[in-house]
Amino acid sequence: MLRRAIRLLAATLLVLPAASAQSVDTAQYLPVARSLLGAGMRTMNAYALLRELVDVAPHRLSGSDGQRKASDLTAMMMTRLGFTGVRQEKVMVPHWVRGKTEEAVVAGPTPYRLNICALGGSVATPGEGITAGVVEVHSFEELRSLGPRAKGNIVFFNRPMDPTRVVTFEAYGGAVDQRSRGAVESARAGGVAALVRSMTLRLDRVPHTGAMGYNDSLPKVPAAAVSSVDADSLSALLSRTPGLKIHMTLDCRTLPDAPSANVLGEITGTEKPDEIVVVSGHLDCWDKGQGANDDGSGCVQAIEALRLLKSAGLQPKRTIRAVMFTNEENGSRGGRDYPVEPARQHEHQVAVLESDRGSFAPRGFTVEGDAAIVQKARRWSPLFALFGAAEFTAGSGGTDISPTIKTGVPGFGLDVENQRYFDYHHSDNDTIETVNPRELELGAIAEALLCYLISEEGL
Ligand SMILES: [Zn+2]
Repeated sequence: MLRRAIRLLAATLLVLPAASAQSVDTAQYLPVARSLLGAGMRTMNAYALLRELVDVAPHRLSGSDGQRKASDLTAMMMTRLGFTGVRQEKVMVPHWVRGKTEEAVVAGPTPYRLNICALGGSVATPGEGITAGVVEVHSFEELRSLGPRAKGNIVFFNRPMDPTRVVTFEAYGGAVDQRSRGAVESARAGGVAALVRSMTLRLDRVPHTGAMGYNDSLPKVPAAAVSSVDADSLSALLSRTPGLKIHMTLDCRTLPDAPSANVLGEITGTEKPDEIVVVSGHLDCWDKGQGANDDGSGCVQAIEALRLLKSAGLQPKRTIRAVMFTNEENGSRGGRDYPVEPARQHEHQVAVLESDRGSFAPRGFTVEGDAAIVQKARRWSPLFALFGAAEFTAGSGGTDISPTIKTGVPGFGLDVENQRYFDYHHSDNDTIETVNPRELELGAIAEALLCYLISEEGL
């Protein structure tokens, strides 16, 4: 299969339409690409790093002990691997804590317990809980059309992610307003709480948490996610039982901001050490599951990318830096602080890469920058065909690197097969058992090669 892939690559190189000098540039990196591929697939080291991360710090929500352990652990990993400049750059982060009680019971002769979890940032219910009727809606427009009928009720937002969207991130984007703004719109309508269908395309009993916000001019009402199976059951119950009531209790709370850090480690460039190519993921995750796909995998891929380059004996001209950002999930403060950190004043960021779409087989990279950057990156795509990751398409780089991209730095997002991501996202389903070591490693190899090419060729 590999031999066939190389034959295909050789054929592609022969028909490259660009100037012959560019073809030569690309072909000269073929031994590097093959060496990284061999070294990665023989050792499968990214998976070993991920195992270590989720064993030591399975829960890494911003401000938690788990997150601090993860920062120390990844700094230690990078020191152990011989990276230079290993350090933690302090960032203050929000500190929200899930309570011990998360209950929603449909009252009736046979009480029905819904599988729920608080949304991140939610206030608690009063200690005795809330007992109220329920109005089901599928959009904010529908909620507004109810007028005073929503008043005093729990508003149940039950618009599923659109299953006809092949790109699941688009389906997520079309539904997630219910989670992020459901509590605000419930309060605006006079509601007493928000219950939101989980952001998943799968039918199961596992609730999926995620970030939500409040509007300071409106009452803050508690908000929880309900599993997709329970959302369907509740909808059916509501259609059969007018006046149905739910008793809901949450005891989550928000503490003062806490210290956290972006964790950095490098291979120092031999010719232009102040020119930086960043490869990154975010180390914080929700307190459900192990954050294996979101985004432990992106972090260990960044570390593995540098390890692969070192183990291949490559000495990049520019500095290649692995960054584990903090607080992507509920504030994005790590990404916000990175470009304005005083140390950045003496550096030139050449490009920023992020992997934050799960551990799945890579397809290529989305490129956020002007059209010339996309064209330049596409020149390298025959090399990435070795890993099945040859697609360079215009698109978003990633949440954490977005503030840096806004300063004019080209951004790259590792693009992966995406059908299963939301099966696991922000839930107890996101464990290391869902991660395929080969797919995870292929992503790290693709990142290693792209970092090296940018380091040697610039953008
Ligand atoms: Zn993420």
